[in-house]
Amino acid sequence: MTRQRSLVLVTVDCLRADHVGFLGYPRPTTPFLDTLALHSYVFPSAIVAGAPTYFSFPAILASRFPLALGRDVLGIAPTEPTLASALQACGWTTAAFLAGNPYLSQRCGYDEGFDTFRDILAEDLPCDSTSSEGEMDTHFTRLNRFLERNARRNERTAAGYEELYFLYCQWLASRRQETMEGLRPYPAADTIVDQASSWISSQGDQPFFLWLHLMDPHHPYYPPEEALAAIGRADISPSRARFWNASWSRGHINCKRLQRYRDEIVTLYDAGIQWADTQISRLIRTLQHSCRWDDTVFAVTGDHGEEFLEHGRRFHAPEDLADELIHVPLLLRVPGMNGTILPNEPFSLIHLAPTLLDVLDVPSPTTFRGASYWPDISKGQLPKLTAVTECIEGCNNPLQRSNRLGQRLLSVRDASYKVLVRFGNSTDIMFDLKNDPGEYCPLPRDAKPAERAQLLRVAREHVTSPPQASDPEFRLRACLREFCQQLSFRRNAAEPLLGEIQVH
Ligand SMILES: [Zn+2]
Repeated sequence: MTRQRSLVLVTVDCLRADHVGFLGYPRPTTPFLDTLALHSYVFPSAIVAGAPTYFSFPAILASRFPLALGRDVLGIAPTEPTLASALQACGWTTAAFLAGNPYLSQRCGYDEGFDTFRDILAEDLPCDSTSSEGEMDTHFTRLNRFLERNARRNERTAAGYEELYFLYCQWLASRRQETMEGLRPYPAADTIVDQASSWISSQGDQPFFLWLHLMDPHHPYYPPEEALAAIGRADISPSRARFWNASWSRGHINCKRLQRYRDEIVTLYDAGIQWADTQISRLIRTLQHSCRWDDTVFAVTGDHGEEFLEHGRRFHAPEDLADELIHVPLLLRVPGMNGTILPNEPFSLIHLAPTLLDVLDVPSPTTFRGASYWPDISKGQLPKLTAVTECIEGCNNPLQRSNRLGQRLLSVRDASYKVLVRFGNSTDIMFDLKNDPGEYCPLPRDAKPAERAQLLRVAREHVTSPPQASDPEFRLRACLREFCQQLSFRRNAAEPLLGEIQVH
């Protein structure tokens, strides 16, 4: 009797599709994954169902659109079926090792279905070494407040003050002995892989599901020196990286000025990807040494991309749904299958969990919105697809409920066109992705009427689709969880209350 297969899912925060070698990026960011891609199914157009993290992961783990339970619901609802809980129910041992993204915490329900759940940031958050408040001389502080108060009386002196204060802070920081590790606010991939590797080594013969979430390409960008050396930029010192990051993060700086730092910031970002790639190779070596690789299904993807001023924006705020933000790599390695590059159809990550379960011969929960495409994928095919992505426009702090109550932003994308619908001002624009892949020139309103009507029909069906029977229950459970958290209850104190709720 053959052993049931294990599953490893690696999600890399902020990983853009066009910054990995196996999708054509010329810089050597992913040498290991490029080799793995030769024996894997490569999805040229994997599209997230929401962006950023908090709008993306409900689809990745629970195959559910992020706003399906109501825009005020954050994360996975208590008892909501997930990839992990489906496998756990069928006898898989489940474990997650996360590099401390606060939106993937227990607070947001991401421990659902995991026997082991390690959120590294919650356990040992490094000190913020950039803080210099304690060192500040009180006389200087008083003088600074006096200068600030007076400078803010008009726009020009306020800008001058901010420039000088920024340079002063940078000079102050440069006097400290800095390291990339000391500057980085989250654990690098080697820490996560160390923990996952020791967990793998402790496992018996049971099939397992292991989820790793890596934060290395996330800002602020402080890659290990080895990763910089690997992409040919060993010359970048921690203090230069700190200066570029600080400059890149400044508010109210115009795009032209930010352009000065863009290439260096992209280099730091790319080195973060390189480090994730190196550590993924180490994880797979552990699987090989533990004799588990030959029966492990392995998938790697991103939760959303990252913007580097392509449309004047930085980071990954939900202000738009350009491909820089929603197009991610997806690579699926299935033992015994040769893999191939799949057709260029937009494969939504809403379909990832049901597809992975199908590969493992495990039925999907009925609550999953996505479908398995494994029958097509295993033949190297994909049918014609459209991918829907949604978020709340401008929602940058979802832990505050009021911040989640803005207007929906929705995109619908097929292989050739994309429609972006802003519910805030009731507008929709359409792009021709073949002739304008950068999405700089919306098509005139009368162009491509049949294609526009088709994408808008999908958008309408998406927002008007009736809720599933279980949605009110999950919504209620999620709202109660948040209510209990706000009352400072511990999660286990809330569970007896949540356990009382039944569907009628
Ligand atoms: Zn993210």
